[in-house]
Amino acid sequence: MEITYPFAKVFVDSTNKLNIFFLHNTKHSTFQQIGEIGSGIVDFCELDYSEVQEKIQALETMTVSSADFEDIQAGFWEAVDLLKEKHSYAHFFLNSEMVRTLWASDKSVEEQIDYLLFLFHYYFELQTQYSEALEFCLNTQVLTEYTLAERYVMFCNLHTDFTQHMLRSMYGIAPIANGKFDTDKLIQFDSSGEVDTKKVLQNIHEDSDYAVSMWQYFSIQSLEEMLYLEFAEMVKRGIRVKRCVLCDRYFILTDKRRRDYCDRVYAGKRTCKQIGAKKKFNESVSDDIYLLQFQTIYNRMYSRYYRMDAWDSDRQTNKLTEEQFKAWVSEASKARQAYKAGDISGEEMIGRISKEPEQ
Ligand SMILES: [Zn+2]
Repeated sequence: MEITYPFAKVFVDSTNKLNIFFLHNTKHSTFQQIGEIGSGIVDFCELDYSEVQEKIQALETMTVSSADFEDIQAGFWEAVDLLKEKHSYAHFFLNSEMVRTLWASDKSVEEQIDYLLFLFHYYFELQTQYSEALEFCLNTQVLTEYTLAERYVMFCNLHTDFTQHMLRSMYGIAPIANGKFDTDKLIQFDSSGEVDTKKVLQNIHEDSDYAVSMWQYFSIQSLEEMLYLEFAEMVKRGIRVKRCVLCDRYFILTDKRRRDYCDRVYAGKRTCKQIGAKKKFNESVSDDIYLLQFQTIYNRMYSRYYRMDAWDSDRQTNKLTEEQFKAWVSEASKARQAYKAGDISGEEMIGRISKEPEQ
């Protein structure tokens, strides 16, 4: 399939960073290094979509006969602009799809609107899919009895469509030496006529290990492809995630050190980590026996839902349905919040989450 602008060229190197050239059109491109690998997915899964969702709901009630197409278009641009500054690449890919749909397609006006509505819903759905993938394959707090490889294989067995992804890769000259991308050697130019090609090539090849510094890169045109690439690199490198003890959101474990708190700003100014460091000094939150017990019970329910307690045997399990599991999770997290806020005791929390879900 042909690649059309806008798209991104992604170089992966030996560091845990993704080197991305965002090609906005034939003349304009920007470069960004996204580190640590996994932060893009985690930020995407934790993205607050509520404002965008409201906007889309309002747009769904508008039709070309009842409103000006211009107004509807403006509504979509406002919706995508809500993601600006909020995520390193989600905005770029959604904006790109909008450009292709509204400016460069031969779809009818009705088809354009239908397609954009579909697209936004697809973005919401990707969030659900990747939250599940993170939890199932990489969260250190569940399915702890399985290796990373086992978890990935089990996940692919459950979601066979996940293994159907394809990425387009190409080769290009890039300033990579000793397995690392050298951002100092990147040149920003507005007019290609002003570039001294000979000098640029000499510079790039100065300390390359190869005759020509040719590197494989991925041509990424959609958010779906980008998430898949980043996720595959996370699994390959064994980059794990965890939920923050304080804010309950995912964060990446960048090394083997034990971490319980994320670096996000919590309630105004200080980060979860700063608050956590202080808390830990006074009371050992992360060693709280009730929270540990909570985790054990959560783990058990999670395994029952995915039938992972018998994935490699024919043994019958007391499997939970999706409704049962979701209802249980929602009640359990309320109980945990109440416990963390000091509204109920640890025994009460455990009592509340230990009830067998209704059939
Ligand atoms: Zn946090």
